[in-house]
Amino acid sequence: MTRAAGLDALAAFLAGPGADYAAARNTDRGPGTVPTTSALSPYLRRRLLTEEEVARAAIRAFGERGAEKFVSEIFWRTYFKGHLETHPEAWTRYLAGRDAARARLAAEPGLRRTHARAIAGETGIDGFDAWAAQLVAEGWLHNHARMWFASIWIFTLRLPWELGADVFLRHLLDGDPASNTLSWRWVAGLHTRGKHYLARRDNIREFTQGRHDPAGLDEHAACLDEAMPPREGPLSPADPAPDGPVALLLHLDDLHPESLPLGGARVMRVAGLTASVDGASDRVRAADAAAMADALARAGEHFGCSVEPMGEGWAGDLPVVTAFAPVGPSAEALPVGCSRIRRVWDERAWPLSNRGYSRLRGAIPKVMAV
Ligand SMILES: Cc1cc2nc3c(=O)[nH]c(=O)nc-3n(C[C@H](O)[C@H](O)[C@H](O)COP(=O)(O)OP(=O)(O)OC[C@H]3O[C@@H](n4cnc5c(N)ncnc54)[C@H](O)[C@@H]3O)c2cc1C
Repeated sequence: MTRAAGLDALAAFLAGPGADYAAARNTDRGPGTVPTTSALSPYLRRRLLTEEEVARAAIRAFGERGAEKFVSEIFWRTYFKGHLETHPEAWTRYLAGRDAARARLAAEPGLRRTHARAIAGETGIDGFDAWAAQLVAEGWLHNHARMWFASIWIFTLRLPWELGADVFLRHLLDGDPASNTLSWRWVAGLHTRGKHYLARRDNIREFTQGRHDPAGLDEHAACLDEAMPPREGPLSPADPAPDGPVALLLHLDDLHPESLPLGGARVMRVAGLTASVDGASDRVRAADAAAMADALARAGEHFGCSVEPMGEGWAGDLPVVTAFAPVGPSAEALPVGCSRIRRVWDERAWPLSNRGYSRLRGAIPKVMAV
């Protein structure tokens, strides 16, 4: 998991499936095939590639019109980030709901059996079992498969959504507090209240090209509800980068230090804080470690500075600067007192992400203006 590998994957996508993205993106060709989508999410999630550079590269390759659908999907990621920043309670409630659901597993044998079968891919539901296996084997699922999986988990298997979101977050190489939590909420009917996503047999047959034809789905279930939606709060302010010598602290939400808006700051030392998600699989931890090692090596070279092991006193007397960490494990683990600087992309987009997606979509040209 390196930036170089991400750039190669971006080039391959733009020269290959990218041209047909808008028409083909809903089809899941299955494991072992070239996906209809970019599969860049593990790189974007860690910002080994930035959203901005990927969107601009697509526009260069296909023109504004030709890249429109792809760019709009990239902005879904930005939207979810901004939405969770303005509704951090969606994350804390998810964590509390996950822990409560784990306690139910311990107390309810029937629920425990259904859950065990679901994660082992032994439900007998065609498609679902294959996606459960692919999730663990590859750490990636096509977007449509994620939607079908989450919907069957919630509405056919009637399992708590937080446990499904937890399995995704621990195994997906792109596992992301915002995209994952809010997508599961969206499928359940909690994000856009009263509007849920029901997986349908004929839709699955069509978009898996006949590979899967699951019988017995509940295609008429009512959506989930909650007494109160997560409260909206103000965006946490970012800090200006201090002028002069600084120590730069990298974390897993932003591993492209070369493009950080550092202003007059001069990076003298760099270190990395690797805070993987709770219970992350070995594959995810290995990807996190490799991505961090790559970013530290690049930062050392780019700034011509020393790379320090993270530990007490690593920064000496220098002020510590870090990229703004959005809601999630990095933000929870960062030491207090760092200056947290935000990219222009997020600064422009997040305030427009507090309600539905359409406001941000309408503002894409403004966010991307140079
Ligand atoms: C239940 C569920 C859970 C999900 N969990 C995650 C997650 O943990 N992390 C994650 O990055 N995405 C998540 N997604 C969103 C989406 O499925 C993936 O981003 C996408 O499948 C990644 O594949 P790709 O890179 O080929 O996407 P492409 O179609 O090539 O899109 C390019 C990029 O745009 C972004 N993007 C595309 N679609 C979405 C979307 N619907 N929501 C948010 N961003 C999007 C991703 O960064 C992606 O890499 C989830 C979706 C669902 C339905």
